[in-house]
Parts: sequence; C-alpha cells; structure tokens
Amino acid sequence: MRDMNFLTENNARPIWHPMAHPAEMQASPPRVIMKGDGVTVTDIDGKSVLDAVGGLWNVNLGYSSDPVKEAIARQLAELPYYSGFRGTSTGPSIELAYELAEFFAPEGMVRSFFTSGGSDSVESALRLARQYWKIKGEADRTKFLALKKGYHGTHFGGASVNGNANFRRNYEPLLPGCFHIPAPWTYRNPFDETDPAKLARLCIRALEDEIAFQGGDTIAAFIMEPVLGAGGVIVPHETFMPMLREVLDRHGILLIADEVVTGFGRTGAWSGSRLWGVKPDMMTIAKAITSGYFPLGATLISQKVADVFEADRTSFGAIGHGYTYSGHPVGCAAGLAALAETKRLNLAGNAAARGEELAAVLADLKARFDVVGDVRSKGLMAALELVSDRTSKKPVDKKVMAAVADGAYEAGIMIRVSGNNIILSPPLVITSADVATIADGLAAGLARA
Ligand code: PMP
Repeated sequence: MRDMNFLTENNARPIWHPMAHPAEMQASPPRVIMKGDGVTVTDIDGKSVLDAVGGLWNVNLGYSSDPVKEAIARQLAELPYYSGFRGTSTGPSIELAYELAEFFAPEGMVRSFFTSGGSDSVESALRLARQYWKIKGEADRTKFLALKKGYHGTHFGGASVNGNANFRRNYEPLLPGCFHIPAPWTYRNPFDETDPAKLARLCIRALEDEIAFQGGDTIAAFIMEPVLGAGGVIVPHETFMPMLREVLDRHGILLIADEVVTGFGRTGAWSGSRLWGVKPDMMTIAKAITSGYFPLGATLISQKVADVFEADRTSFGAIGHGYTYSGHPVGCAAGLAALAETKRLNLAGNAAARGEELAAVLADLKARFDVVGDVRSKGLMAALELVSDRTSKKPVDKKVMAAVADGAYEAGIMIRVSGNNIILSPPLVITSADVATIADGLAAGLARA
C-alpha cells in the first residue's frame, strides 16, 4: 500500500464520496479510518475513538469478530465466487437462506432472494411486488405508497419511495406512481399533534384518504421502516404499524418492511416487525446481515407471496432480475457466522438494555443543552435533533453541526451528522461503560454548539 501522505493528498480527488459534495470534500477531506478494534476505530493520525455510528448502522458485532473474519477467510480459500444464476448455486447461500427462514419465522419469512446490499433489496422487493400482482392477474396494481421522511436507498425505485427531498430532487423525474403520507413524527407533523397515539391515528386516516383517492386496487405495496432511521430515528407509536397492516389488508395491498437498519436486533427486538407484532409480506435486510464485514443483502418473502410465484402457470412468474453478487458465497459465509454470533451474544437483549441507558443519557442531555430540541431512540438507534430555538424549532445550521461532531470526536466518540440530527447507532456489543463514554463525548460536542 502507498504511504500515509499519498492517502492524505488524494483523499478526495480520484474518489467521489457518497452523500457529499465533491468540491466540499476536496476543500475539507474526510477522515481516513485505518483500523478497527472492538468498538473503537483509529484514524490516519493515530487517534482512536469509540464508534458511536457503528460503521453505518451495520457493524453490530464491532470490529473484532474472529468467527466472521475466519469464516470469510475459509470461504475465500475454498471458493471465492460462484454465480447463483439459474443453473448453479453455492453451499453458503443455501445454508444462509435456510437459517434466515428459521430466524425470521416469527415474521413469517420463508424465502430469501439475495442481493448486494440494502438498495438492491428494496429494488427487488418493489419489483417482486409488481410481479406478484401481474401473476395474480391484477396488472393495474402498480403504485407504491410510503412515509414521508422514510429512507429506502439510492436506486431509482428506492429514491422514488424515499420521503426526503434531498435524496430525490437532484434525480427527478423519479418513478411515476409513488405517493407519500405523513410520518408519525410527534416533533414535526402537519397536524401539530404531539400525542403519539393520536398522531398515529391521524396518519392512518391520511393513509385511508390516500388509498381512497388513488383507488386501492391500483396500489401494489406500501413500504416502510418499522423505525425510521436516516430520516432522523422516528419511532412510531406502537399502534401505528398494526393499524397500518389492518388497513392494507382491507385493500389487499402488500406490506414491505424495510428492515435494512432494524433487522438483527438494533431496536432491541430481533426485527422492527417483531417489535410491533406485525407480519409483513416482504422484508428487506442488509447491513448487519454480515455485521458490515462483506456487502450482502436479501429480500425476504412470506409464504403468501411465495405461494403465488411458486404456483404460477402464467408467463409472468420467472424472476427477471438478479445481481452478479446475489448469494455471493463469501458474503453468505460471513452472514452465517455473523448470524450465529448475533444469536450467541443475544445482541437484541443487549441493544434493549443498553438502549434504556442511552435513552436516559439523551434525556439528561436535552435537559442540560437548550440546543437539543428533541431526542428520539429505540434500542441502539438514536437521534438528537438540534435547533437554534426551541419555540420556532429552527434547525441549527451546518457549521453548528460540524462543530458538535468535531467536539465529540476530539472527546473520543465518532457521531454522524444527518441534516440537523446527530445520529447514533453504536455496535450492539457496547457495554454500560461505553454508553457513559458516549454521554461524555456528546456533552463535549454539544458544548461547542
Ligand atoms: N433501506 C434503509 C432503511 C436504509 O437505511 C438503507 C441504508 N442506510 C438502505 C435501504 C440502503 O442500503 P444500502 O446503503 O446498503 O444500499
């Protein structure tokens, strides 16, 4: 590898960094991370910090999971790649699909369609939803509904159901036939409703209104994150998703749970659907499926959807899309090891317990710092929303967010800035002492606001 100076000098020139302005990155290059150990990462200057972002919501096991690393090394030696297209398959992909069906049996998932990551999983789910209706002879069902503030990745399908303007505007026109209803977000909503249960009902009314307007028999599926992540960790009231399921059932609309972040324990339950007691028709997973050690994702399919495809005698049944890396044997070997470790360490249990400690920390920070307008969390996903004034709720500007992030980093924790939110999604293996470190780091950062 070239020396450190080379990396520093070329940091933002030959490479365009995702979700960033190229000129901004060239003017102020991102930190180069060189090493990971436990829940800590070390940058090019040798500074080590607790990674309160957990990579990107994905490194649930931290950076030192030997079983996952060994599984990857073993599979690389045995068979680094073979395709899963039609005529061939590989052992790890079959085994992982078997294990996922067992793990997500309470959600009713019976089949896996492997992908290379979350955006792919969403794209495949949307495609399979349309195909499902074609097979069933209801070809008019082509539309998708979603929540404002939802995030569903960066492919055109995902961007079309995304509910954040900043991920849509530069790429319009998007897929036609995608419509959004308000998210059950108590801090900011068009109804000025702060009671979570009442707001849940109002959003469901908006859903029913939209379905009536569109015509229920024109809608293929509704997609939502059980807890909204990138949009700022919006936690719906516990009644929201069950009510939504009931309305969708009444109109025959499929429910796709986008569990790319919430799958595998992050919310304190093994999935967001299980947290709310809802069975979706399809689930999208990625990220923590390999704890981030290898790119992999899957669209999981319920019995109801599987039956339609598997009993199909029309010309619509063959799955006309797939990825070179669908079922990548190294990714699936990593997935098998990560899943075994996730279960062995009861990461959902730790996320629930440490999540309660983190929620107490956040409440304390809100009491101490006026700049914190709202705090939201479920398990080990959390957001602090920063405002310049609590009455007007005016978001602080970018400079303030950067100062807070830099202050936290100097104090020893990595946090993520998304708009005027500080996002936390630490590895699920963190201890109570780590939660205390996060609290101190956040306080140091917020003191700079
Ligand atoms: N869906 C959700 C809910 C996500 O949070 C993300 C990524 N943050 C995606 C889809 C897209 O996943 P990927 O970045 O792996 O393509």
